[in-house]
Amino acid sequence: MRPAWLEVNLDFLAHNLRSLCVRAGNVPAIGIVKANAYGHGAVEVGRELVRLGVWGLAVATVEEGRALRQAGIAARVLLLGSLHPEQAEAVLRWGLIPSLSTLESAEALDARARALGLRAEAHLEFDTGMGRTGFAVEDAGALKEWLGRYTGLKVSGVYSHFADAEENLLWTEEQITRFAEVQKVFGRGPLYHLCNTAGTVNFPHMGLGAVRPGIGLYGLIPNVGLYPIARLLAKPTLVKRLSAGHRIGYGGLYTTEGEEWIATLPVGYADGMPRQLYNRATVRLLDEPVSVRLECPVVGRISMDQITVRLPGPVDLNTLFEVASADFHPNGSLWGWAELTGTVSYEPAVRLAARLPRVYLRAGVEVARRDGGE
Ligand SMILES: *Cc1c(COP(=O)(O)O)cnc(C)c1O
Repeated sequence: MRPAWLEVNLDFLAHNLRSLCVRAGNVPAIGIVKANAYGHGAVEVGRELVRLGVWGLAVATVEEGRALRQAGIAARVLLLGSLHPEQAEAVLRWGLIPSLSTLESAEALDARARALGLRAEAHLEFDTGMGRTGFAVEDAGALKEWLGRYTGLKVSGVYSHFADAEENLLWTEEQITRFAEVQKVFGRGPLYHLCNTAGTVNFPHMGLGAVRPGIGLYGLIPNVGLYPIARLLAKPTLVKRLSAGHRIGYGGLYTTEGEEWIATLPVGYADGMPRQLYNRATVRLLDEPVSVRLECPVVGRISMDQITVRLPGPVDLNTLFEVASADFHPNGSLWGWAELTGTVSYEPAVRLAARLPRVYLRAGVEVARRDGGE
């Protein structure tokens, strides 16, 4: 296996899932595994979430849903976003539950389902304030009547999405009030769901029929009792001693001050490490015993496939380095990288490249692996 890989801790995944569901009053979760499970590996994470008893999974594209099916995952898969009418057929073929926001998509799905002698399950999304997808709340009554005549369609769920449940609590309350109008129209029957991670954390009484956590499953928000589930590890491919005045990397942005020990780690921006971090990121040398973590600064530019780090002294090529840790390290975690580059932790997570091998641990034992070659 390539000496740079992502290690995913499935016990932390289970902890995060349980913690969010309990918080929301023991409602089930729709496990969001879009964008390759936020970089963590959709098939393996999805399979584990199903094993842990989620209501179902959710993806952003038909192809993401197809990949789950082709991996043998038979659980419910909700397709988020507004269904394009052209995708009605594919949704039925792969047994996905699409989200409807337009009459065009509802009609296309109904027509395709009837042609195949099926009744297609779908969830309706309502725009309670996000302004992106969803039917207008005012149209709920007419829509219910209209869709009731579609014999090829079964509305099994109704939902909405928060725009800022992290910070804007008043706006979120407004969205909740608008969603209540929709619930009044549709009554008992459909599965209602509203809360993403921030919603689950800040509005735990709004768990309704299910919560829809994504980022929280991966533990990438601090201070709410969730743990990051992944760390990026690497072994050096080269360790050398450089004399003073030696330039390192593209553009020679770093020059050794004295005699320095430098290791080259085979991971770079093509693996998802932000290139802007060249003078700010650190990695941790996991010395024996492994509880010792020595901070090593990344020196010189981050290359596409490699970084160079300054060591306290010589180490051998089997030494483990934590390039991104499974905590909230300010200079060396997915969360820290996001802070340093002015973005949200979602972004460095989803940028973790497919070519990185992924190793999945349960109780410290490897239970699955993907070598990054697919
Ligand atoms: C991505 C997404 C989520 C998950 O959001 P997090 O902030 O990652 O918890 C939930 N619902 C919808 C509709 C989404 O698109």
